[in-house]
This record gives sequence, C-alpha cells and structure tokens, in this order.
Amino acid sequence: MHPNPTYRTALEHPIFSLISRASGNLQMDSYVIGGYVRDFLLKRGEAKDIDIVAVGSGIALAKEVAKLLPGNPKVSIFKTYGTAMLKSQGIELEFVGARKESYTEDSRNPAVENGTLEDDQNRRDFTINALALSLQSDTFGKLLDPFNGLEDLEKKIIRTPLDPEVTYSDDPLRMLRAIRFATQLDFVIEKASLDAITKNADRIKIISKERIVDEIHKILLADQPSKGFALLHKTGLLPYIFPELVALEGIEEKEGQRHKDNFWHTLEVVDNIAKATDNLWLRWAALLHDIGKAPTKRFDKQIGWTFHAHEFVGSKMVYKLFKRLKMPLNDKMKFVQKMVLMSSRPIVLATDVTDSAVRRLIFDAGEHVEDLMTLCEADITTKNPKKFKKYQNNFKLVRDKIEEVEERDHIRNFQPPVSGEEIMETFAIKPSREIGIIKDAIKEAILEGTIPNEYDAAKEYMLKKGAELNLTPVK
Ligand code: ATP
Ligand code: MG
Repeated sequence: MHPNPTYRTALEHPIFSLISRASGNLQMDSYVIGGYVRDFLLKRGEAKDIDIVAVGSGIALAKEVAKLLPGNPKVSIFKTYGTAMLKSQGIELEFVGARKESYTEDSRNPAVENGTLEDDQNRRDFTINALALSLQSDTFGKLLDPFNGLEDLEKKIIRTPLDPEVTYSDDPLRMLRAIRFATQLDFVIEKASLDAITKNADRIKIISKERIVDEIHKILLADQPSKGFALLHKTGLLPYIFPELVALEGIEEKEGQRHKDNFWHTLEVVDNIAKATDNLWLRWAALLHDIGKAPTKRFDKQIGWTFHAHEFVGSKMVYKLFKRLKMPLNDKMKFVQKMVLMSSRPIVLATDVTDSAVRRLIFDAGEHVEDLMTLCEADITTKNPKKFKKYQNNFKLVRDKIEEVEERDHIRNFQPPVSGEEIMETFAIKPSREIGIIKDAIKEAILEGTIPNEYDAAKEYMLKKGAELNLTPVK
C-alpha cells in the first residue's frame, strides 16, 4: 500500500490553482479525476481533457471557474447529466458533481443522486480511472486512491473498483473500454474481469453502434491493435461486432491441402500496417481486406483452395458492415472499399511488372497508390524468411516502377489530353456515343503504351479513331 503520496507536479498548470480558488470561494471540495491523473502517472504526456469532480454542484463550480478565467469563457451545461464543460487555452475541462449511481436492467443510463467523492470513485469503471488528486489548498495534489489503482498502474492491470459482474452488466460499454485500455496501455485485464466480460458479452447489444465504433477506432489506433481484437475474440464480443471476421477463423484441410487461418492472418496484417501508418482508414482497410474470403471459399480438386473474386465481394461487404455499424457512408468508406477491391493488384504485378500494368494500377488507384502498396506490404505474413525477403523485394520493384512510370507518364491524376469539346469541334458532331468511344480509345492507348500521354500524340490518335468511325475532320 502507498501512504497517499502527493503529486503537486501533476498540478503545475495554473488552471489547477484557479479551480482550487473557485472551489474555495464556493466552499466546495473538488478533485481532478480519471484519465488526466492516470496518464500523468503513466507519463503518457499531458492530456488535453481534464475531468473535475465537485462535491456539490459541478455546474456551479464550472461557472465560478469561468468567472475567474481571463475572457470569461462560455460554459456548456448538460442539465440532464448534471455536467458542465468549458474550454480555456486549448484545455477542455469537464465538471461533474460527485454522485452515486444505480442501474436498471435495460439501460446504461443510471439513476443518480448526490454523493461523496468515495461514491463517485465507486461508480468509475477501473481502479486506474478512479484515481483522484485533491484541489483543496491544504491537501493540494494529494492522491485519493481507495482501490489501490496506483498498484494496478505499476502492475499494468485493468481491474474494476466493485464486483466486475455488476460493473460490466450495469454498463456494458465498460467491456469495450477494458479491452481498449488494455490495448492502448498494453495492460492485462485481470481474470475476474475477463470472466465477467465473457459472461456478459451479449449485453453489448444495448450499446449504441456509435459508441462501439468509437472504441474500435481507438483499438485500431493503438500500437498493436491485434491485442484488442484477440481480446474481443477471446471474450466472445467479436461476433456481435464483426461476424465477418469471426467467419475467417479456422483452417480447413481437404485432400492434404490446407489454407491459412485468415482471421489470425488479418490480425498480423493490422499490426504490420500499424507500424507503417497512423492513417485510421488504411488500418480499417487492413482489418477488412480479407473479409470476402469466407463467402468465396471453394475447394477445387485441381487447384486446391480458392477465394475467387474475394476482393470484389469483400468491397461490397465493406458497405454493409459500415452501414450496420452506423458509420458514415462517405469518402472514407469508399477509400476502404477501394483498398479492399484492389488489395491483390500489386501482388499480380510483383512477378511480372510491365509498364502498361503499372500505368493501369496508377490509373485505378489514383492518389491512393502508395496506401495500396503499404497495405500489400503489410499483407506479407509468411514465416519463411526467404519468401518474406523475396516478396518484400518484389514490392520494392513495383514501388520503384510506379515512381519511374509516374514521372514519365503522369497517370496519377489522369486528365484526358484531348477533351470532349475538342473532339466535337474537330468532327462537328453533337454529344454522342462516338465521343465516348474516342475518349476511351485514347485513354486505353495511353495506358497500353501505344501512345505517350501527350497532346499531339493524342490528337493524332483521335483523328485515326475518327476515321475508323467514318468521321471527317472539319478543321
Ligand atoms: P481517454 O480520454 O484517454 O479515453 P479517460 O479515462 O479520460 O481516457 P473518458 O471517456 O474521457 O476516459 O472518461 C473520463 C473518466 O470518466 C474515466 O477516467 C472514468 O473515470 C470515467 N468513465 C468514463 N466512462 C465510464 C464508464 N462507462 N463507466 C464508468 N466510468 C467511466
Ligand atoms: Mg478523457
């Protein structure tokens, strides 16, 4: 047990003494609690959002703080929750009155009544999130840690202050938060918690999709996202969120032929890509790149296991999955679809890298061609070091070739070198099928390498194609 150490250095920012003064004015006790304290002790860098508990009205304290701050910032009040928020100098302050909570079966929104600091610490999700620092002038910076959260921080353990069965059943979002914190902080969830999560997994049904997705984003953005997905899998939460991934698990063997386990493979790919990029949506693409493999899996006596058109099927599944999870069906979703759809294209190129195939790849991938290469490189999970090196080298060749071809042919943001208007003027024709045919022929000729991506060559090619269509130039 630690004898309540004091952490004044956590409260060096002038905002804390100001809040202390405001509490004093109202003769109210207040504490910094939760993420800020945890992250300070973990030396995770100073958080930009700070939670304050007032033993009394959080809203009143927020107003008093605003009054003392230069510029008197606006206080946003959330009456139903009894909380208030204000922003000052890039810091977001959340105020809440200390409370006691009681839950009912069908909702994660509890009935609340005023309580003590202890009551408030009791309602917190994890011991490491219940740590509070005093803002009273005589005990400024003193740690209040009724559940030994400090020890859990040192031992890297996720544990609930109260009975885990009750904690997770009351608010099932905490199951995802436990897994998210374990992943982000590289902590272990203690056994009683893990068992309670497993037992209550189906309670996740009462959590809104938006909240679930928030946590999944955070898991995906961790250094090693596989940790989180392995925990979702182990606790039985995964089928409620990503049945598509569950369907990838397992290895089948027929006539001595086996395919790899595409679930565990996918998790490796996600970890690989996490080392290469912080782009959340590229990480989503890695997570979903093989989901089309479950519905397309076939066994063929001649060629063995096949997943014909899994990329196409997978990209369609991305839409359904985003829709089911109430994620925005916007350009981010289209990006993920595109990455999934194209995820095998560079692999084909790796063995036979022709200029025209590279031009087509750049044309189809457009501005996302580098992201696509990053995904393909992350997809190499072979445990054979020779093969690993070989595949990596092949992709390096493709990357070099992409650069060389792009520098010469400028396919990346392809604009037709001859416009539709010019075709119409040249042959004195109205908008018609022929214009599309000619434009398409020019594009094809450029991608094939029949002509360079230049105006003069394209114009000449237009005249030739026009003649084939019995069109006569008028100028
Ligand atoms: P981060 O901001 O890095 O996600 P955090 O711990 O600050 O971590 P918040 O969601 O900002 O997390 O919540 C602030 C605090 O509120 C937490 O530290 C915890 O004490 C409490 N809390 C948040 N969500 C819950 C919950 N579902 N059940 C119980 N306590 C919670
Ligand atoms: Mg926070």
